Amino acid sequence: MSSQIGFIGLGRMGLPMAENLVRAGFRVVGFDMSEAARAAFLEKGGEVGGTVAEVAGEADLLVTMLPNGAIVRSALLDEPGFALGLRPGSVVIDMSSSAPTQTASLAEALSSRGVTLIDAPVSGGVAKAVDGTLAILVGGEADAVERVRPVLGAMGASIIHTGATGSAHCMKALNNFVSAAGLVAVSEALHVGARFGLKPETIVEALNASTGRNNTTERKALPFMVSEAYNSGFAMNLMAKDIGIAADLAADLGLDMAELALMARLWREASQALGPDADHTAMHRFVGEKAGG
Ligand code: NAD
Repeated sequence: MSSQIGFIGLGRMGLPMAENLVRAGFRVVGFDMSEAARAAFLEKGGEVGGTVAEVAGEADLLVTMLPNGAIVRSALLDEPGFALGLRPGSVVIDMSSSAPTQTASLAEALSSRGVTLIDAPVSGGVAKAVDGTLAILVGGEADAVERVRPVLGAMGASIIHTGATGSAHCMKALNNFVSAAGLVAVSEALHVGARFGLKPETIVEALNASTGRNNTTERKALPFMVSEAYNSGFAMNLMAKDIGIAADLAADLGLDMAELALMARLWREASQALGPDADHTAMHRFVGEKAGG
């Protein structure tokens, strides 16, 4: 594999990922419901298909990079249904951050058509999607994962096989919970420190030299939060979705996790208050305003 790859979802992440597949020599036929996204892929040298036959008919691999698992399922199985155009023996890789329970039921539905589902969500944001250096978590049978490894390798620098189908989506939600909790902690530290009289740049420098260092202190605090640019390229509503997935999972497993529940509530509240266009780094502004900053 793979003679032709169908790629559905050419958004902030999907577009550069599909572009890297083209650059690696794969024939990629992309689709997105947005005309602007389709035009952007054409401009980058990709091919665009308008029908199931064009996107999936000749493909032995279909990649989805869509907002959530419900949209993935609908794009694949509801009329016209891109997965309905696949031949038995084909593979679908859902690289979206979907809910693991939805992944399990989608895997079953696809398997009845002879199609294998692999979940391969990514971490690293738009910058690493552009560079082709994403961290890719992969869930699925070992032989299916080996078949698609060269394709994943064109988009990522590290590929971690997490276990059975659905396990990578579980891990992705947990990762984003940890990352989001770190971002909230940094946001609160910035506001408290500034009120005390510390310079934001000093706070970030001190955290980066100390044990409070994390991905937010290293990569987000100065360019997106202290600057108030709030344009990292990862939407707040997508982050809120991911933490909701992790919180639902804990509840389903009968685990009462205080911090996870708190984060799920806070990110949902912020996302509802700031609307669908807000970047997740705007949490910095939200906690400041909430605190009376
Ligand atoms: P995005 O909103 O920029 O892109 C999603 C794309 O899907 C859009 O172009 C939209 O038009 C298209 N789309 C929506 N419904 C569709 C449908 N039914 N059929 C065809 N196209 C459809 O989102 P993104 O930031 O690229 O995120 C995509 C996925 O990756 C999400 O699951 C997100 O949680 C995850 N993710 C994002 C980042 C990031 O930094 N942006 C990082 C890691 C993971």
